[in-house]
Amino acid sequence: MKKMRIQFIYPESGYNKYNNLTLINGRYYHGIGQLSAFLKQNGHDTGLIHIVNEIDIEKVESDIRKYDPDIICLSSTTHMLSEIILINDLLEKEFSDKTTIIGGIAISIEPELIDRLKGFDYAVIGDGEIALIEIIENLKRSSDKKISDISNVIKRGQKKERINVRCHKEFDELPFGDRDIFDFENTDDYKLFKRLPMMTSRGCRFSCSFCSNSVLRKYYFKDTYLRFRSPKDVCDEIAYCIQKYPEIRSIQFQSDLFFDNKEWLDDFVKEYKRIALPYHCLMRVEQVDKDVVKLLKESGCEQVLMGIESGSESTRKSIGKTPKTKIIFKAFELLKRNGIKTGSFNMMGFLKETTEDIFKGIYLNAILKPDLIQVSIYYPYKNTLLYDQVKDMLYNKHYHTYFERSLMKEKYLVKNFYYFYKNYEYLMRFINEKKDSRLFWLWELLIKNSLVSEKILRRNKPETFRILF
Ligand code: SF4
Repeated sequence: MKKMRIQFIYPESGYNKYNNLTLINGRYYHGIGQLSAFLKQNGHDTGLIHIVNEIDIEKVESDIRKYDPDIICLSSTTHMLSEIILINDLLEKEFSDKTTIIGGIAISIEPELIDRLKGFDYAVIGDGEIALIEIIENLKRSSDKKISDISNVIKRGQKKERINVRCHKEFDELPFGDRDIFDFENTDDYKLFKRLPMMTSRGCRFSCSFCSNSVLRKYYFKDTYLRFRSPKDVCDEIAYCIQKYPEIRSIQFQSDLFFDNKEWLDDFVKEYKRIALPYHCLMRVEQVDKDVVKLLKESGCEQVLMGIESGSESTRKSIGKTPKTKIIFKAFELLKRNGIKTGSFNMMGFLKETTEDIFKGIYLNAILKPDLIQVSIYYPYKNTLLYDQVKDMLYNKHYHTYFERSLMKEKYLVKNFYYFYKNYEYLMRFINEKKDSRLFWLWELLIKNSLVSEKILRRNKPETFRILF
């Protein structure tokens, strides 16, 4: 097979800006690492343009000219839209002789986007390993028609009735992620945090209505969407990385679901004994029980991060999250009692959400006292189950954000809430340190009387909150 040169572009800057992150050298990204490893295993060369902070389109152009690839692949997420447009324009103007492909989550949940991106020839939906190899084989035979026949590839302008993602059901067959392409030693993951990002699975068993998993799963054949690697394969990759990068001090499991059944977790605990490094992972609240916590503890789990998303039971029910507050309490309590740190993911800005609902979320976190709190503003990702319910109410159609009939329209109030929510733990610490009961009453007032709280929030600019906390 003739060797091809494939150059990936990863504009991480869009994601970092959206999340207010300032990174130095950026982070490892599994999607590109895994595709690159697979292409190398099949005899091809790969390169990467990793844009961490501001995009410099002239530099992107000169990097492409220097590498001179046969194929250019852009990996996309929705919050990279402005970068995607810049790169699209560059490819359309300067590199129309190259084969150009867009993949990643943004195009996978919104395949129709390809028709607006004239700089790209093809979109790859979902897992890309098999599709990329088939594209390469057909390019060599100059068989453009065959490329558009690939079941998860869309040629710009093509109307595809049905998308079927063909993927490796047996993950252990895939090579370990290619960290060299990211110059892993210089990433923030390794250089600053001494941690190794790792995946145990792809997909998710659940279909929360705001999450991209609710869109992606429909492109997969039954039983192929959620796939787990064997614990042995996961630990073999970790052991390989530790040998190569000896300063790794912890493992960060980034799969949407760290495990799916206790047998897998039981095997993992046995395998992980040879690794013996602290790790962090993501789970659903209802997965936590005594047996699971015992296994997590035994294997050295340091922190479990879980999505609460809302303090309101009815909102949680409507978005597909654990509705019962007592299940959330039980999960956090069990983990804490066993010395495992916790973290909560929260969201505000759901349609019909009231100020009281937001305070319920703050109050819930105040009681749970997670070691880490992440709060974000709900973003209606295209084609998700929830997007369909809110699409006619978008305040700003371009950015798919802010609703005409929700609190989100009041940007000023939203910003105040955001700072308040995000920084409540500092307020609590401040109150505890001062031991001033008047401050505690202020807190109680804020929590319990949302009408008063709303007035206070309306009067204060976000900057005031920044200074206060
Ligand atoms: S559990 Fe998490 S990853 Fe899975 S569908 Fe819900 S939000 Fe998405």
